[in-house]
Formats: sequence, C-alpha cells, structure tokens
Amino acid sequence: MTAAPAAARNYRLGEFHTFEGGGSRFLYLVPAGAIFELDEAAATLIDLLSDAETPHDQLLTDLAARGLAPEDAEQLIEEMFYARAIVAGPSVPAPPQNAPAVFPLQTLVLNLTNQCNLSCQYCYEFGEDKVATPEGKPKFMDFDTARASVDFLLEQSAGRRAIHITFFGGETLMNFPLLKQVVAYANQQAAAQGRTIDFSLTTNATLLTPDIIGFLSEHHIGVTVSMDGPKEMHDQLRVFANGRGSYDIIEPRVRALIQGHRTRPITARVTLTSGVTDVLRIYRHLKHDLGFHEVGFAPVTTSPNRLYAINERGMDSVLDQFQALAREYLEFALRGELHGFSNVSDTLAELCQGVNKSHPCGAALGLLGVGPSGDIAPCHRFVDSDAHALGHISTGVDRAKQGEFLRRGHIDSKYECHTCWARPLCAGGCHHEAYVHYGDTGHPNLHYCDWIRGWTDTCLRIYGAISARNPGFLQQFAERKAL
Ligand code: SF4
Ligand code: SF4
Repeated sequence: MTAAPAAARNYRLGEFHTFEGGGSRFLYLVPAGAIFELDEAAATLIDLLSDAETPHDQLLTDLAARGLAPEDAEQLIEEMFYARAIVAGPSVPAPPQNAPAVFPLQTLVLNLTNQCNLSCQYCYEFGEDKVATPEGKPKFMDFDTARASVDFLLEQSAGRRAIHITFFGGETLMNFPLLKQVVAYANQQAAAQGRTIDFSLTTNATLLTPDIIGFLSEHHIGVTVSMDGPKEMHDQLRVFANGRGSYDIIEPRVRALIQGHRTRPITARVTLTSGVTDVLRIYRHLKHDLGFHEVGFAPVTTSPNRLYAINERGMDSVLDQFQALAREYLEFALRGELHGFSNVSDTLAELCQGVNKSHPCGAALGLLGVGPSGDIAPCHRFVDSDAHALGHISTGVDRAKQGEFLRRGHIDSKYECHTCWARPLCAGGCHHEAYVHYGDTGHPNLHYCDWIRGWTDTCLRIYGAISARNPGFLQQFAERKAL
C-alpha cells in the first residue's frame, strides 16, 4: 500500500512509550523497538497531536504559530512520519510473521548431568513444578553424546562469528571430567575450522577445588554461581538432602573462585523467593562482602500456590529495590564506572542493540539444550522432558516440533501482548515460566505485566539519562549477551 500524499494526510500519534532521562524527553518507538530523543520542535509536534488527529495543513499552521519556519515544519513532519512516531491513515495491523524456517545455532547448553548434590526446594528441575521426566534415562552425559553435540553445534552454526557452549546440570561439576574433555575437543574442532568457541557454566559452587578453578581460569570459562545471599537467606532453600544449608560449604569456595579465576568476571545468580526478597542486602553481600563482579536476580519460577512463591506485595518491594539499585547504577555510569547489577546491564544491552523480539529469548532459535540422553530441548530448563523434546542429537532437530514451539511462542500468537508497549523486549516472557503457570509454552506471562512495564520504564530512563550525559558509556553494550 502506498502512503497518501503528505498534504492529504490526517496525522495522529504513533505507538510509543514516552519517558524522560537526564533532562531530555524520549520516545520508545514500539513497532521498531527504537529510542528517539525529542528536540524542542519534535516535542512540540508530539504535544500538538496529543489532543486530536490533525490534518497536514493544520499541523503546519500550528507549528508555524509556535515559531517554526514552514520548510522546517514540513521536514519535521516527514521525519517523524517515517520514524513512525506519528502515523496517518487507517490502522493496518502488521501481517503475522512466520518463525524463520532455519536459524543458525549460536549457543548449545549441555546438561552434563541431571544429578545434583543439593536439594533446593524451588529447583525447576527437581522441585514440585518440574517438567523433566528423567526416569530410565542416563544420569550422566557420556563423551559420545557430548562429541556429537559439539559437532552438531559447529555444523548448525555456519556463518556465526561467535558461538557458545554453556555447561549446565543438575550440578554441572558432578561431571567435571566430561567438561574437560568437551573443552579440549571443541577447541580442537573449532580451530580446525578457523573458529573459536566461548564457554561458560553455572554451578552451585559446592564442588569447586583449586584444580577446577585453575582449569576454568586457564580456559577462559565464564562462571555463574547460583547463590541467594547471606547465610540466613541462602540457607532457607539452598540445602543438602538432609536439610543442612550449603552456605558454609560454598562461601570459602566462592572466595577462592573469585580470587583464583582471573580471566573472566564471576557472576552470582540469585533466585528470589518468599522471604528472600531483600535485594539490596543480598546485592551488598554478594558484591561487596564476597566480591562477585556482577549479580543478577530473578524471581522464582513457580506456580502461584507454592509456599516460596512471592506475593504481589513482595514483588512490589522487589521492584522498589530494583529501582533503588538502578539509581545507584546510573550514578556509577555517569562517572564511567560499571555497576554490578546485571539486570540493568542486560536490558541496556538490549536497548543499545535495538532488539525487537519475535520471541522472548533464543530458546529453539539460536539456543538449544541437550540432555544427558542426547535429547534436544528448547533450552536447559526443558531438558529431559519428553513432552518438550525437539529431537535427538543423533538424528538432529525435529523441524516440525521446533516450528510448532516457535509458532506458539511468537509474539503474533500472543493476543494480549499486541497492544503492550513493552513487547519489543518482553515478547510475552519465558516459555518455561509460561508452561509452569499456564500449562502452555506459548501463553504470555500475564501475571507480571505491570511489573515488567515498571521495570522496563526504569531501564529506559536509565538509558536516556546515560545517553544524554555520558553516551560513550553505552558503547560497551554493543555485543553483550545474556543467556
Ligand atoms: S507478557 Fe505482558 S508485559 Fe510482556 S509483552 Fe505481553 S502484555 Fe506486555
Ligand atoms: S527465558 Fe526461559 S525459555 Fe528462554 S532460555 Fe531462559 S529459561 Fe529457557
């Protein structure tokens, strides 16, 4: 459809979210997932259209009355029209997009084992909401399966510059001998193709030894430690099978890791649960007392009736504390220093990269999980689940199942999200959380929309303030990726 000539258009506001940062006004342009800073003239135009739809010539007259020369007004209208900050004509919904038929793989998550030496009550793998059906399957991945997985990644990632292997469990380090073999094999195979592979792992830190730490540092393996804060918080749910908390075991090991692993930043990943929502205290402990480089938080994934689920008041308190830490983050950023609150850094990276998601994450797109049995899953959280398997490493991806998973998870399939300004970043939220809450991986996570919009607005303001007052700081986020 061709646009009507400019003079015949009736303009109205496009779809955007306005916010302020650093004394400037911005629009978050939803169809493009882009940020637009308003100068005085553009702000005037937006204000003029806030009241009513306005014909082209009337808009020119109104802008002239506010001191704009006719040619400047004409140019401004055109620019704002092509940025889709203002629109004209009938609202035509964008045609549904199909999920890409083939998407080069970027990250393979290898669940080296489905065994764990802890019994964290909220665990998505072993807890009450688990989706895994590991009965009768191998408990530990063997080298043949791991080797086939590496070959699969190299083959399926053709054209990708950066590819990643992430090691996961159960407790990843319960199969450390295999991890070492995989690193050696993957490096050798990648080098033969003139490529490199980046490695990372997630661990509960109970099994870390000086030798393991030395290996991880020597091979530049990124480490994320699952840890929930100071002892009295960490030990509430992160316990051994006999109920004993794991803090005292991991604390010296974490300190040794942070001191001994010199090649990559070490990250803590905190699961917030009912009674463990003191974000500020947890952050201070992990960042300042223990020395983690970055700390990221996520509310527990659970059906709402579980005892450890966070209620609405708890989530409000979490948002307040996130906002307080985000203000602190901004102070650091304006001095050119990186603050350790990774939830802000991850969102800034998405804003800097202009993401406009068709799907909430890379699951079943650029990212796949492989379980100890060789079953392929959309991501690590669906590993070992028969209901969600997308094929087997020996036979490859079942494209029909993958296509169905992606079709269900596509933003176009989520009716409630179509009018939400946060959709370029949220896209309906985690497929696994949706399954746990609604029994459908493609259901939008409607239980936290207000929270997501509140947090996204905070990150936009932080972005705006930094881009107005210290824009060079944002350059470091051009390539940052979160799992
Ligand atoms: S799940 Fe909620 S916050 Fe996320 S895009 Fe959909 S409507 Fe918006
Ligand atoms: S956001 Fe959810 S579905 Fe996506 S990779 Fe993470 S856990 Fe898996």
